[in-house]
Amino acid sequence: MDTMVSNSQTYLKILADLIKIKSVNDHELEVAEYLQDLFQENGIEAKILPLEGQRANLVAEIGEGAPVLAVSGHMDVVDPGNLAAWDNDPFTMTEKDGKLFGRGITDMKAGLAALVIAMIELKKQGLPKKGTIRLLATAGEEVGEEGSAAFYRDHYMEDAAGLLIAEPSTVYGTASEQKGSFDIKFTSKGTSVHSSTPEKGYNALVPLMQLLNEANTYFETIPAGEMGPVRFNIDVLNGGSQINSLPDLATALVNVRTIPEYDNNQVAKQIETFVKSYNANGAQINTDLIMNEFPIATSPSNQLVKIIQSLGKEYAGRDIVVAASPGITDASNLAKDKPHDFPFAVYGPGDGSQHQVNESLPKQMYLDFIEIYQKLFIEFLEK
Ligand SMILES: [Zn+2]
Repeated sequence: MDTMVSNSQTYLKILADLIKIKSVNDHELEVAEYLQDLFQENGIEAKILPLEGQRANLVAEIGEGAPVLAVSGHMDVVDPGNLAAWDNDPFTMTEKDGKLFGRGITDMKAGLAALVIAMIELKKQGLPKKGTIRLLATAGEEVGEEGSAAFYRDHYMEDAAGLLIAEPSTVYGTASEQKGSFDIKFTSKGTSVHSSTPEKGYNALVPLMQLLNEANTYFETIPAGEMGPVRFNIDVLNGGSQINSLPDLATALVNVRTIPEYDNNQVAKQIETFVKSYNANGAQINTDLIMNEFPIATSPSNQLVKIIQSLGKEYAGRDIVVAASPGITDASNLAKDKPHDFPFAVYGPGDGSQHQVNESLPKQMYLDFIEIYQKLFIEFLEK
């Protein structure tokens, strides 16, 4: 059997094994243990860094000394949703017409597997001859980003000379910047009375709805930046329990997508101004900050992007598009405090089907990225 074929069978087996692990917003420890064993079989030491419960990060390195290229992928996946809507079991990788299917195949177990396999293949060749490749496999990327927060807190990024996030980018494209994300919960308190005598009570929903409406209109007037506009999303609104009683409690969950020109601090300040003015007029509204990830904007001509543009072209069959990443990634934590020219890129296999039913990925794209990453890592470290 020729080695390319046997290799690609091994590569597919690894991906299928990862898909099988139901790391739905939890249980990343099982993925970490699988990867630790795989690394160990190939002479690479990997360390599991436990978080709460069944959650954990994993770190593994090949090579030695500076420069350090940090490469990262998350081990969690989102819920498969309505199982009946899937053509096959989402946790059994299936193949049809050159495409692979399964929950997390695009977001982002293929990207994670490609990073791991690239490191194993380089190690077999005695590479890198200079510098270190450090895998930071994270937990909890989809909700809260606690894994990357722990890596940042524990200084795993301090000596990094570059960061590659293997999240699905636009088909064979890349990104050097991403919006920030700001999650806030509003709680409005009132006094419940019978609806026939509302003057005796206070409707908790009314000032909250007015505030949200005013904020929504206000944030639409913020001029768009290089990455596009600020987005103020009212995603959840709750209040009241009965048609003839004034609600004494109302809550709202809002997600704001921020840009460097109008960042999380400015959003927080503006929301505080609104809350103060409503509270001065009788409302009792409190806010809790749930998540606060700042936008990351490195130069689209940073060194990592330049290498991706030159070596990714032959795989893409066209020039590599450098766009802003639409969603946030672990880079919000990992690339925090890095300078504008810091080599950072989001670059990974994906076909845009993340978080969808029948999530898919062209098989060739997965195999391509295993090759691309090997070349990319060495070129970054040794040139
Ligand atoms: Zn992802």
